[in-house]
Amino acid sequence: MKKEEIGSLKQKSRRWRSGAANERALRYREGEQIHGFTVQQVGRGFVHLRSRVRVGHVLPRWESLCRKVEAYPVTAVPELFLTAVKLSHDNTGARYLHVAREDSNNLFSVQFRTTPMDSTGVPHILEHTVLCGSQKYPCRDPFFKMLNRSLSTFMNAFTASDYTLYPFSTQNPKDFQNLLSVYLDAAFFPCLRQLDFWQEGWRLEHENPTDPETPLVFKGVVFNEMKGAFTDNERLFAQHLQNKLLPDHTYGVISGGDPLSIPDLTWEQLKQFHATHYHPSNSRFFTYGNFPLEQHLKQIHEEALVKFQRIESNTDIPKQKLWENPREHSIKCGLDSFAADPSKQTTVSVSYLLTDITDTFETFTLSLLSSLLVEGPNSPFYKALIESGVGTDFSPDVGFNGSTREAYFSVGLQGIAERDIDTVKQIVARTVDEVIAKGFEEDRIEALLHKIEIQLKHQSTSFGLALTSYIASCWNQDGDPVELLKIADKVSQFRQCLKENPRFLQEKVETYFKGNPHRLTLSMSPEEDYHDKQARMEAEKLKQKISVLSGEDKKQIFEKGLELIALQNKPEDASCLPALKVSDIEPKIPFTVLETTLAADEVPVQYCAQPTNGVVYFRAVSSLNTLPEELKPYVPLFCNVITKMGCGALGYREQAQKIELKTGGMSVSPHIIPDDSHLDVYEQGVLFSSLCLDRNLPEMMHLWSEIFNNPRFDEEEHFRVLVRKTAQELSNGIPDCGHLYASIRASKNLTPSGELQEMFNGMDQVKLMKRIAEMSDIKPVLRKLPRIKKYLLNSDNIRCSVNAAPQQISEASKEIEKFIKGITKSKKERKPVRPHVIEKSSDVKPGGCEMLNSLQITRKLINDPTFKPCQMKTHFVLPFPVNYIGECVRTVPYPAADYASLRILARLMTAKFLHREIREKGGAYGGGAKLSHNGIFTFYSYRDPNSLATLKTFEKAVEWAKAGEFTQQDIDEAKLAVFAAVDAPIAPSDKGMDHFLYGISDEMKQSHREQLFAVNSDKLIDVSNKYLAPGKSTRGLAVLGPENTDITKDPSWVKR
Ligand SMILES: [Zn+2]
Repeated sequence: MKKEEIGSLKQKSRRWRSGAANERALRYREGEQIHGFTVQQVGRGFVHLRSRVRVGHVLPRWESLCRKVEAYPVTAVPELFLTAVKLSHDNTGARYLHVAREDSNNLFSVQFRTTPMDSTGVPHILEHTVLCGSQKYPCRDPFFKMLNRSLSTFMNAFTASDYTLYPFSTQNPKDFQNLLSVYLDAAFFPCLRQLDFWQEGWRLEHENPTDPETPLVFKGVVFNEMKGAFTDNERLFAQHLQNKLLPDHTYGVISGGDPLSIPDLTWEQLKQFHATHYHPSNSRFFTYGNFPLEQHLKQIHEEALVKFQRIESNTDIPKQKLWENPREHSIKCGLDSFAADPSKQTTVSVSYLLTDITDTFETFTLSLLSSLLVEGPNSPFYKALIESGVGTDFSPDVGFNGSTREAYFSVGLQGIAERDIDTVKQIVARTVDEVIAKGFEEDRIEALLHKIEIQLKHQSTSFGLALTSYIASCWNQDGDPVELLKIADKVSQFRQCLKENPRFLQEKVETYFKGNPHRLTLSMSPEEDYHDKQARMEAEKLKQKISVLSGEDKKQIFEKGLELIALQNKPEDASCLPALKVSDIEPKIPFTVLETTLAADEVPVQYCAQPTNGVVYFRAVSSLNTLPEELKPYVPLFCNVITKMGCGALGYREQAQKIELKTGGMSVSPHIIPDDSHLDVYEQGVLFSSLCLDRNLPEMMHLWSEIFNNPRFDEEEHFRVLVRKTAQELSNGIPDCGHLYASIRASKNLTPSGELQEMFNGMDQVKLMKRIAEMSDIKPVLRKLPRIKKYLLNSDNIRCSVNAAPQQISEASKEIEKFIKGITKSKKERKPVRPHVIEKSSDVKPGGCEMLNSLQITRKLINDPTFKPCQMKTHFVLPFPVNYIGECVRTVPYPAADYASLRILARLMTAKFLHREIREKGGAYGGGAKLSHNGIFTFYSYRDPNSLATLKTFEKAVEWAKAGEFTQQDIDEAKLAVFAAVDAPIAPSDKGMDHFLYGISDEMKQSHREQLFAVNSDKLIDVSNKYLAPGKSTRGLAVLGPENTDITKDPSWVKR
C-alpha cells in the first residue's frame, strides 16, 4: 500500500466521539438525590471497553488517573474508561448501578434474588409467566410481541441458581423507554393468570384437548423444556455437582425445575413466590451505555418503585456449612449413542469448595489459578488427565465456577470406563501434589495475563450484556459490583503478591485443594433403560395425579383445556403495547470504507481501518477447489488440529504456549458459501482467523508462516487426544443443536453445496468423527493431513483481510507481504477437481466518496449445472424424549426481490402463527421459520414433544400465509423485527467481513434494504404461493428424536 493511500484512509475513518456519557456521569456527587434515588458512589472502572474516545480528547480531570493507570503493567490505554454510579432507592432500598460509557448499544436489566427451596422450578416458571401479560399491558405474551415492535438488539430473561435476570438492549432512545416500560410492568405488576401458569408451567390435559376420550397427559412449556434440558448428560452432571457440593440451602435444589417435581407446584405458590421475591427491596437495577441516567431513574421510580414500600426480603443465602470429611456420590444417565466407545461412558470429577465470591481479589486469584491448572495442553491437569488416554475429554463444568455464593473448582474426565474412577481420583490427587511441589512456569502466568489484556481490548458488540452477566452473581450476594470492575487493580495486586511470595499460588493450592475436606467426588454412569425409567417415573407421577381427581375435577380439566385453546386462538389486540414505526428505521446504511491491494503482486488483501483498540485482526480464505474428493470429509478435522500439532521447531506444547503469549487466538474452519447469483453456485474453502495486539503482529504472522510451511504431523498420541475430544464435543452438542442438525440434513439435497454442508457440519461429520475415534490404528487418518496440507496451505488461491487501527495499516501490509512471499506456491497450476469453476469479482466501492482503487477481489466458485434438487425425508433415531425437526424449501438467492419478501414472511409466520401453534399449543420449547443466506427457507422446532403433528403445522402455516390472514400492522411488525437483526451493531473487528467472506457489498445490502421496505401484503401472498405451496419447490425433511411408529410405518422416510 502506498503512503498517500494510508493517509486518505486515516482521514476517512470514522470520527470518534468524545466521552460525553462519562463526563456527564462524573458530575454526580455522593448523597445527591435524583428521582427518589440517592447517589452512593461514583467510581471509575478500567475494564475491556469499546470506547470510541480518542486519547487526545481525554478530559483534563482524567490525566492524573491515566498516569496512575499506565503504571499498571497490563492495564490498557487510558482511553478505555467507563464511569460507574451506584445509587439506592430511598423508599424501597432497591439497588441501582449505572455504567456510563460511550456506547450506543444501551442495556437495561433488573435482577431479583430468587432462592427456591424445592425443585418445582418455581423461579423458572415465574420467569416465563411474568412475561405473559401485566396490568398496563394485559395482552397475551407482551414480551414476544415486543420483539416485533422494537429495534432491540437483545431481549431475554434468565433463571440462574439464585437470581432471575431480565435484560434488554437497544440503540434507539424511544425504543429504550418503550421496552423499559414493558419490562417494569411485567416484573412488578404481572397478571399471573391461572391459564398463563397452565400454559407456561404444567397442566393435566387430554392428549387431544378437544377429545375427552384421549388420555390425560402432562403438558406445559417449562415442563417440556426441562425434560429436554436433562437429556443433555453434561447438563445433568453439572446440575448434580452443584446440588451435592452445596446441599444445605437453595443450591441443593434445581432452580429450573425437575420434571418430576414440577407437577407439585401450585398457582398459589407461584403468586406467593412473586410477592416475596419480585419486590423492589429484593431487586437490583442496572443500566449501561450513553443514554442519560436521569431519564432512566425517573421512569423506573414513577412507573414502578413509587408504588412500593420497603420490606424485609429475607432472601439471604447462608454460607454452606463446611464438611469435615470429603464425600462421594454417583448418579445415572442415558446412553450416548454417539459415544466413541460404548463401554467407556462414565464421567467422574473431583470438586472443591473455594471462597466467598464477594471477596473479589481472592476470587480473581482463584479463577486465574484455575485457568493455570486446566487450560491448554501445557496445564498440569491436561497433561495428567487428558493425555493419560483414560478418558475422552474433561468432565463437564471443569475449572472455576463463581456463580454460587461460594465458588468452586472441579476437575475430572468423561468417556472413561467405570473401573477407572479410582484411577482418575488418584491422578487428581497426584497432580495437586506435583503442583504444590513445582508451581507454574513464569511464561504460563505471563501468557494468562496477556490473555486478560487482549480480552480487555477486544471490542464486542454486547459489552453491556457481558457486564451485567459478569457482575450478577457477586452483586446478588451484596458484593460490590464497582470493585469487581477494577480488573487492572487486581492484575497489579496479583503481580505484587507473586513478587512478594514466589510460592503464592502453590500455597493457595495447598489451602484450597490439598487440605480442603469440603471435597466431592461425583461419578455418572449410563444405564441402558435410563430414559424408559424416567418415562415410567413420569407415568407413575401422572397416575398419582389422576387417581385423586374427582369426576368434577376431570370435567374441569377438559373445560380448562378448551378454554386455553380458545384463548390461544383468540385474535387479540396488542395495541396497548408501545411500538416503533417502520418510519423510525434508518433508510440508508452507513458504508464501510474498504481498500484492497495486492500482496506479492498477486494475492488480494482487504484492509479495513477501524478503531480496534490496539488489536489487529488477520483473516485469510484458501480454496478447496483442487482438493481430491476422497480427502474432503477430513477437512473439518484438518482445520481443527492444524494450529494445535506444532510447527517448525515448535512442538505442540511450545506452539500452544507461543500462541497464548503472542496472540488472542488462531483458528481455522471450513468455509462453504453459496453465491448470490445462483443457488447452484458456491465457494468452498477454509477460513483462517486470528487476532493479536499491535506489537505482536510480526510474531503472529511468523507463526502463520510456520504453520503453512512446516506444520508437524508427528505426534500420533497427541492427535488421538484431539480426535477423541472433538468426537466427544460433537456428540455432547446434539441435544443443544438438534434443530440445526435436522435443518442441515433436510437441506442436503436441495443445493450442490448442501451435501458439503452435511459432510462438514452435519450428522455425517458426527458419525465420521465417532468412527475415527474408535479406530485402533489412527495412522491412516493422520497420513491424510499432510496430503490435505499440500492443496490448502499455499498461496495459489488465497485472499486475506486485515482490520486494524488506521495508523497500523501500513505496518500490517508489510507483514502480510512478507507472509505471502514466504509461503509456497505450486510450480505448475493444479486443476480443479470439479470442472465447472467460474471466476467472479466483486467491486470494492467505498460509499459516498471517490473510489480509493479499482482492484477487485476474485473468488473462484463451483458451478454444477447438472445438479437436480431432490426430495428426502430422514429420521435419525436417537435416545431422546423430545424431537428436533427441520423442513427446508429451496427458494432464491440474496439479491432477488423475492428473497426480501421471504425473509419478512419467515418472521411473520414465526410471530403470528408458528410460535402460537408450536410453543403455546404444542408445548415445544421453540419453533419457527427462517430464511438462510443460502436461499433455503427452513421451518424448525426445538425440544418438541410432537413430530408429525408439527410437520402438519408447517403445512398449515403455508395455508395461513397463502390466505393472507395478516394485517398491515403485522407486516410492519415483521419488518421491525427483521431490521432489528439487519441493523444489529457490528464490532470493529467484523466490519467489512460480509464483503470479504461472502462477496456482499454495501450496495447490495442497501438494495436488499430497499427491497425489505417495499414488501407488502401482495408480495407476501405471492411468494407463499410461488415457493412454499406444496409441489412448488423441492423440499427436504429431517427429524431427530425417539423411535416413532408413525414414521416407521411410512415408507417415504429413510431411517438412520
Ligand atoms: Zn425457560
